[in-house]
Amino acid sequence: MIDFHTHSSMSDGSLNPEDLVSRAKSHGVEYLALTDHDTIDGLSRASIAAKKNDLHLITGIELSSEWSGIGVHIVGLGFDVNSPILLGGIKRQKQARLHRAQTIAERLAKKGFLNTFEGARAIAMKQSGCEARGECSDMLESENLIIARPHFAQYLVQAGYVKSEKAAFKRYLGAGKIGDIKSCWPEMQTVIAWIKASGGVSVLAHPLHYKLTNSKLRRLMTDFKAVGGEAVEVISGRQTSEQTDYVAKLADEFGLFASAGSDFHSPDFAWQGLGKIGKLPSLCRPVPVYPTV
Ligand code: AMP
Ligand code: MN
Ligand code: MN
Ligand code: MN
Repeated sequence: MIDFHTHSSMSDGSLNPEDLVSRAKSHGVEYLALTDHDTIDGLSRASIAAKKNDLHLITGIELSSEWSGIGVHIVGLGFDVNSPILLGGIKRQKQARLHRAQTIAERLAKKGFLNTFEGARAIAMKQSGCEARGECSDMLESENLIIARPHFAQYLVQAGYVKSEKAAFKRYLGAGKIGDIKSCWPEMQTVIAWIKASGGVSVLAHPLHYKLTNSKLRRLMTDFKAVGGEAVEVISGRQTSEQTDYVAKLADEFGLFASAGSDFHSPDFAWQGLGKIGKLPSLCRPVPVYPTV
């Protein structure tokens, strides 16, 4: 029983790393990867919790990148957390994220939504629990805080600017809206090179989320493979068996390993059930990763 794509409160998930691990255990997960957006800050805490819960943890991250003008997410699995090249890459991602958050706030200000950077940052700090641990000033100083679009969505609701987070994405933050900025991310091949240098496997995350035509998805997979990508998420959250079979056949055709993950963010999102993952079709070759932390 595996789940190789999950988020904690160190990025935009609602559970802290310890609670994520114990929930995974209680849902029957045996092999878990914590794959927070552009950070590995939750891994050491998750590792301690995994040992206590007798669960195997695989190192993970979900790196933001750009391919052909679209935002593409690359999951890294099974890397060395001390790799200087990966650590340097993560530092750059965090700086890009911070800069992006400021740009999002400037754009939202033009719509009359004020102080959204401060608002989103306060929500990210509260959720990460840094206040309770007395670590907030260190996190801000070292630019280690992950501010993601869901934090902006939550602030827009909190400030009374929109009715729901769903509406915030639909009108301001989602694909093609003013708060959707991709130009800040490195090329897909760059983040794959970081993962490779750290001994990890690069996985193309949720290939059906990009809403590409069949020919464009094939072009993405061709380029992904050419620059060292090794696996694709044949299963991402809840999907139909037709969708699973479609991606499984593509994985087979392109000679890519198959990964599977819930993309869990919160117990409130029923469609991202932790460990609620169907079986990989028999033609799939499961991604070869081993517990590393
Ligand atoms: P970011 O990494 O800052 O670009 O934020 C992306 C995250 O926003 C994703 O990982 C999801 O958790 C969330 N997200 C993206 N699109 C939507 C949407 N339409 N509705 C709700 N959440 C979304
Ligand atoms: Mn997310
Ligand atoms: Mn993603
Ligand atoms: Mn994700």
